[in-house]
Amino acid sequence: MYVVGTPIGHLGELSSRAIAALRAADLIACEDTRETARLASHLGLGAQLVAVHEHNERAGAERLIAALADGKRVALVSDAGTPAVSDPGARVVRAVQEAGYRVVPISGPSAAVVALSASGLLDAQFRFVGFLPVKSAARRKTLEALRGEDCALVFYEAPHRIVDCVADIAAVMQPERELVIARELTKLFEQIVRLPVAEAPAWLAADTNRQRGEFVLLLAGAQPEEGLDAEARRTLDLLLDELP
Ligand code: SAM
Repeated sequence: MYVVGTPIGHLGELSSRAIAALRAADLIACEDTRETARLASHLGLGAQLVAVHEHNERAGAERLIAALADGKRVALVSDAGTPAVSDPGARVVRAVQEAGYRVVPISGPSAAVVALSASGLLDAQFRFVGFLPVKSAARRKTLEALRGEDCALVFYEAPHRIVDCVADIAAVMQPERELVIARELTKLFEQIVRLPVAEAPAWLAADTNRQRGEFVLLLAGAQPEEGLDAEARRTLDLLLDELP
């Protein structure tokens, strides 16, 4: 089974190897058949499209394994980007491997890596967080737990939550840390800005167009002294209070 990365915007970013695998496939497992039908019509694909999403991954996997046993060529895609990265696919991959079939990745873009490549952040390491919790209280709690991380943090966010999410990042994270807002990557209205966390809510509020589309947020890692655990921070604060 080929696991095929598909474009996150610009259709020209589909590799020739990916196109060949999709053209050769008898069956393409996808998240949403309507979404993949667009790609199929762009490429003139003849494969049958089968919806395999988070609610039917197990049954879907069985169907794919049966097709493989039948000698059919099977490909797995998600709506956009790399399957199994904040997308369904992992269970299918595991089931197909456990059934004794080879899983071959055909690399394509992943929004996280695309955003990192043009972020200008200097962190040598990053942690992929993906989507934060939807509710603000839970989101802040997760952010507080990540506050001391000394590597870049990578978040995905939906347009209807971007303002609230950035507000929570600004409320929890150290104000001077750099935040990169990467919007509509590889698309017509692509925008990538890097600014101190404290300035990010005002930047978003200044123009409602800036709140539209798909977003990756990247936060520069905490400086070493900010990575202190809570106990060390309390002790440091007490000692600082004693200084003249
Ligand atoms: N599997 C995909 C990948 O490898 O990037 C991610 C799928 S996840 C359901 C969708 C999220 O990825 C969006 O909500 C957004 O945060 C991010 N994303 C996808 N395409 C993007 C784009 N063109 N520009 C910015 N962010 C994007």
